[in-house]
Amino acid sequence: MTNRFWLAAGLALTIAGCNSAPTATSVLEDAQESMGNPTSIQYSGTGMQAFFGQALTAGESWPRRDLTSYTRTINYDQRSAREELNFAQPQFGGQQQNTQVNGDKAWNVGPNGPAPQLAAAEERQLFIWLTPHGFLKGAAAAGNATLAAGEGTNVVSFTALGKYKVDGTIDANNHVTKVETMIPNSVMGDTAVVANYSDYRDFSGVQFPARIQIDQGGFPLYELNVTSVTPNAPADLPVPDAVQAATIAPVQTMSTRLAPGVWHVTGGSHHSVVVEFSDYLAVVEAPLTEERSLAVIAEAKKLAPNKPIRYVLTTHHHFDHSGGLRTYVAEGATVVTHQSNVPYFEKTVAAPATLMPDTQAKGPKQAMFQGVSDKFVITDGKQTIEVYATNGDTHTNEYTLVYLPGPRILVEGDAYSPGPADAPVPPMPPPNAVKLYDDVQALKLNVATIAPIHGRGAVPIAELRRFIGRS
Ligand SMILES: [Zn+2]
Repeated sequence: MTNRFWLAAGLALTIAGCNSAPTATSVLEDAQESMGNPTSIQYSGTGMQAFFGQALTAGESWPRRDLTSYTRTINYDQRSAREELNFAQPQFGGQQQNTQVNGDKAWNVGPNGPAPQLAAAEERQLFIWLTPHGFLKGAAAAGNATLAAGEGTNVVSFTALGKYKVDGTIDANNHVTKVETMIPNSVMGDTAVVANYSDYRDFSGVQFPARIQIDQGGFPLYELNVTSVTPNAPADLPVPDAVQAATIAPVQTMSTRLAPGVWHVTGGSHHSVVVEFSDYLAVVEAPLTEERSLAVIAEAKKLAPNKPIRYVLTTHHHFDHSGGLRTYVAEGATVVTHQSNVPYFEKTVAAPATLMPDTQAKGPKQAMFQGVSDKFVITDGKQTIEVYATNGDTHTNEYTLVYLPGPRILVEGDAYSPGPADAPVPPMPPPNAVKLYDDVQALKLNVATIAPIHGRGAVPIAELRRFIGRS
C-alpha cells in the first residue's frame, strides 16, 4: 500500500515536472480558455454601492446605498463602459445614476442629457481592467505582464494606463478571483482598490462571478449579486458631441468681503472663508483638491499679503470638504478640526501619494492638529474665531461650527446651503437645517450672517429661519 502510494506520487511529480513552467502568458491564456474571451459583456444584478468619502464618522465604513438594479455594459475593444444604478432610496445626485466612459472621455447621463465628467475618465477606464475578463485582456495586451506563482494560485501583474500596477489572482480553476490596484485620492493619497470575484458560474458560455465585492480605501464600495450576464452584448458607446467638445474648466476664485479682514472665497462648487489676523491668516474649509486649495491660498495671499496661513479649519470630515488638507499642511497650517477626526486625518495627511504627487508628497511637513471637542478660540485681541464641536446630524456624526463674534458671521457646511433668493420654502423643514438652527440657539451664538460652504453666497440668518419655517 505504502509503496504503491509513493510510486503513484512519484509518477505524478514526474508528469508535473515534464510540463514547462507556467509564464504570465500561459496563465492568462489558460484563464481565457476557461473563462471565455468575449469582446463585450453586460452584467446585471442587485446589491449596494457605498458613498465613498462620506462616512458618518471619519475612519468608519462608507455609507451603504441599496441598489434595486445594477447594470454594467463594457466594450473592451472600444475601452468604453456604462454603469447604470437604481438606488432603493433617493440619493444626493439622484435616485438613478448613469456613468459612462469611452477612452479618455467620461460623462454622466441625466435628465438633461450627457454631462461631461472628463476628470473621471482615467479612473473609469482603469475600472474596466479590474473586471474579470477585462483584467485578462488588459494584462495580455499590455505585453509587460509578470507572474508570481503561488500555492495553487498565480498572481499576474501588469501596468495599466502607463502608471497603475494591477495585480490579478488566478486560482487553480483558472478563474480570476481578485484584482487589486491603487488609485490617487486627494484625501487618502494612494488608495487601495480590491475587487473580489467569487461564486463563478456559467452564463451563456462564459464563466462569470455571481458575487462581486469591491473595496476602496479599506471599506466595501460595491457588493453585487450578479443574476444575468450577456457575453458579446451589443455595446457601442460613442462619445456624445457635447462631451467630445468639452474641456476641463480652470479653477476659479472670486472673493467677497464680508467684514473687515473676512472674505468669502467662492467661484466653484465649494467655498472657503479667509480670515485675517494681525500676523497670520486662517482659512475655513479646504475642499475638493490640491488644485482648488492652491488657488484659494493664492487668493488669500492676494487679499492679505505677507502673512502666513497659520490655521485651516474644517466644517466636517467628508472628502469633498477636506481634499485640500494635505496642501494646507504642506503650507505649514495647523489643522483645526473636530476631535473625532484627528486620528484619521493624522494618517491621511502623512500617507504616500505617489500616483498624483501633491506638495505634501513632494516636501512632506509634519502635520499639526488642534482637535476641538467642545470649544476652541483663535484670537489676536481684534479678530476672533470661535470653533464649536457639535454631534452632527444625519449627514455626519460631527460638525464644527465656526463663528466670528465680531461681525457675527457663522460658517457652516452642508447643513444649510442657500438656494436662489426666490426659491420656495420647502413644505417640510429639512431636519439638518433645523438641527443647525437649534445648535446655534443652544450655543447662544448671536449670528447675523451665514457664510455657507455651498450655495449662492452669504445670507442673513433670517433666510435660514424662513427656510425652516421659524420666521
Ligand atoms: Zn458633507
